[in-house]
Amino acid sequence: MTTATDIVYRLPQERKLVSELPGPRSMEIGARRLASVAAGVGSSVPVFAADADGGVIVDVDGNSLIDLGSGIAVTSVGASNAAVAAAVAEQAAHFTHTCFMVTPYEGYVAVAEKLNELTPGDFEKRTVLFNSGAEAVENAVKIARLSTRRNAVITFDHAYHGRTNLTMAMTAKSMPYKRNFGPFAPEVYRMPMSYPYRDELGSDGVAAAKRAISMIEKQVGAETTAAIVIEPIQGEGGFIVPAPGFLSTLAEWCTAHRVLFIADEVQAGFARTGTWFACEQEGVEPDLITMAKGIAGGMPLSAVTGRADIMDTVHGGGLGGTYGGNPVACAAALAAIEQMESLDLCARARHIETIVTEALSVTKDELDGAGLPVIGDIRGRGAMIAVELVTPAEDGTATRDPNPDLTAAVAKTALAQGVVALTCGTYGNVLRLLPPLVIGDDLLRDGLAVLCQALKDNA
Ligand SMILES: *Cc1c(COP(=O)(O)O)cnc(C)c1O
Repeated sequence: MTTATDIVYRLPQERKLVSELPGPRSMEIGARRLASVAAGVGSSVPVFAADADGGVIVDVDGNSLIDLGSGIAVTSVGASNAAVAAAVAEQAAHFTHTCFMVTPYEGYVAVAEKLNELTPGDFEKRTVLFNSGAEAVENAVKIARLSTRRNAVITFDHAYHGRTNLTMAMTAKSMPYKRNFGPFAPEVYRMPMSYPYRDELGSDGVAAAKRAISMIEKQVGAETTAAIVIEPIQGEGGFIVPAPGFLSTLAEWCTAHRVLFIADEVQAGFARTGTWFACEQEGVEPDLITMAKGIAGGMPLSAVTGRADIMDTVHGGGLGGTYGGNPVACAAALAAIEQMESLDLCARARHIETIVTEALSVTKDELDGAGLPVIGDIRGRGAMIAVELVTPAEDGTATRDPNPDLTAAVAKTALAQGVVALTCGTYGNVLRLLPPLVIGDDLLRDGLAVLCQALKDNA
């Protein structure tokens, strides 16, 4: 198996603090930001980046932080992967843009070929490229509606699909994504998710799927439903892994009723969960797949790949956009995918899973043993692992009451020690670990030690 030791890093892979966080230079830029950047844009950490490579982000004061977030599951091959950087420079030196709708170029075609090959399903496929995850989801819905001549779109509790008008409607969580940003797009219906930790159906995925299907049939009707759109492992909603059988039962129902099954793999795709796509682990072959985040080593690119007979129902000129499939982003994607293959980052993701779950399980046992049962659940796959934090009762017995305050405190303590860890979840009580897949074992272990200590210090 390829290990991170085969990877050549440009920056020292170390955690090193040379100032308080944020340091003086970050404070200075932070003040300028307050006076210039719209207040609606948030940032998880108050430090400004100057450099990043492998598993570290170096800030403008020279602090070297361990990156357990990959800029939200984007920089899987590293934030300055040499092969990606070279491909970007080479393409930018020739042309940065012609518009594929005006003068097409080979890179776009090569990315389409690659995605058709990598995505699950042995059937003819076609691909169309865009810029962001939300744009890919919007277009998957456009394609589904046109090809089925139906309107209704089914989404799920805890879903996240983006911030555009249609994808806000599809996203579950009101704050901060939706509140007062409506009215939202019509014909979007939300169904109960399989959430093994919190749902009374527990690990019975088939029963959870039947519950959703019954509601779809009663409240919407199969014959008016264009598509089910679902994240195979939910991202922003809390890294919720549906119980086995949930996705496959939904997919079978879709096939039987000519409803399209759309997997939103924007966060879980591209080796993140230990396979190229998360839905493979449930044996599901979606009709359409949306992709973005990990696809291009940090360059903005997204895609919809799907069955050729569905994709090609759209009339010429019906899909596109000025920047969609930008040539520099395509060059980056081809290089990033080549790196994932040659470094076997799927195997790396599975290796990261064992290191992360081991460290978290030990910490959970210690905390439970100390009468502090704050870790309710550890879940996820590959390098997409979450810890759901809960509030013990007065007498120290375990409950499932969400603990968002502890979650925020742990992230804050970890940052003060030089570790960037993200939070998520409908209840804001999930710490999510999304390290770059190229992070070295020692650095990862150091980051986990800091995070686990932060859990113990704040519990
Ligand atoms: C991040 C995300 C999106 C939206 O992607 P953007 O590039 O931010 O528009 C859509 N779906 C899922 C599952 C995501 O995680």
